[in-house]
Amino acid sequence: MQIESASISQLAEWEKELSTHYERIRQHELNLDITRGKPSAEQLNLSDKLDGILSGDYRAAGGTDTRNYGGLIGLTCARELGADMLQVPTEEVIAGGNSSLTLMYHAVLTGYLFGFAGNTPWRELKAPKFLCPVPGYDRHFTICEQLGIGMINIPVNAQGPDMDLVEKHIREDNEIIGIWCVPKYSNPTGVTYSEETVERLAQLGQIANPGFRIFWDNAYAVHDLGHYVSLPSIRAATLENDTADSVLQFASTSKVTHAGSGVAFVSATGDNLKSLQQQMQAMTIGPDKVNQLRHSRFFTECTSLKDHMRKHADILRPKFDCVLEHLHNGLAGMNLGQWEKPQGGYFVSFNTRPGCAKAVVNLATEAGVKLTPAGATFPYGKDPEDSNIRIAPSFPPLEELDTAMAVFVLCVKLASVRQRLK
Ligand code: PLP
Repeated sequence: MQIESASISQLAEWEKELSTHYERIRQHELNLDITRGKPSAEQLNLSDKLDGILSGDYRAAGGTDTRNYGGLIGLTCARELGADMLQVPTEEVIAGGNSSLTLMYHAVLTGYLFGFAGNTPWRELKAPKFLCPVPGYDRHFTICEQLGIGMINIPVNAQGPDMDLVEKHIREDNEIIGIWCVPKYSNPTGVTYSEETVERLAQLGQIANPGFRIFWDNAYAVHDLGHYVSLPSIRAATLENDTADSVLQFASTSKVTHAGSGVAFVSATGDNLKSLQQQMQAMTIGPDKVNQLRHSRFFTECTSLKDHMRKHADILRPKFDCVLEHLHNGLAGMNLGQWEKPQGGYFVSFNTRPGCAKAVVNLATEAGVKLTPAGATFPYGKDPEDSNIRIAPSFPPLEELDTAMAVFVLCVKLASVRQRLK
């Protein structure tokens, strides 16, 4: 039944049926969680050979004793791994600690406190702002919020951010100093940016404030679910447009090896890397090179990055299929929500009818299924349509996910029908 064409009495009857079903489920006292995009234990097990792989041989190529201090930009072999993930030259990569989010935070701080490559520090501007493609990654927005950097929502379509709007804002406001981009299998929409979008982003450096930087968070660079989707090179596009300084690229092995103890990378031009190093050298003597060496050996002695990611995909695919089947079987053709089939990454993005997301999340929570809070995918936690919900299928076992999704679909129906009855 299409919700729009249902009469009031049909809706009331439907609400009664759904409520009875919902109350029955509530009595089961479920305790399920599909909130954060964490790898499952089965995925983490794929990398357990990291433990003990060095067998007492701590020397990297060139003789560096990785146990000791030093090496601010990371081991060459680790930088090579980052270069492979980001498809950039090794000289343009710094291999850091365990988190790319930390590197992004430090990069924003560098721009804010000192300015990149000799440009005005953002803190000296009246109202520095980032453009934020939405729905997006909540932790990007938290960094801006914490530093008092303004945020402007930019809707994302199937090609990436709405570039007409991006260019309009940049032309009209010289204090826009950054944009957050998750260009491949975006969190949460799953969108991969098109050739035209990448080209237009690469041209922004010609019209923006010279201190403007694109934060190219390629967190899902190698996280295909089966069909490989290619992302055009932002590096090549900026080189052609003479805007290479406008981009900072990030990646990590968090969802490749062990999420809490991987290696993170930042890639940029020499001038940008110099600015980052100036900030980093006051903060640390060097990263965890032992872990960097472990990762390098793992991907030369135990497996290749490609084979390893194929094993992740084999574990993840049935979980994504489970989510999509529930949505299709439970909701297709009823005008109760909208979703896409992602080809990679960690999320399925679901849009309820406007004004229903909070109600769905509340109902699911009451029924023992934790969902990412409605609004979390928007700056300041405010989804103007109260519509987007991020579903993260990776962590729970398949049977739990199956139950959680059945509850989710029921809650979408119940919240939508109750809204129509108001
Ligand atoms: N960037 C995006 C888009 C993410 O989705 C995540 C984790 O969910 C991260 C960064 C965190 O990366 P890391 O573990 O390297 O800090």
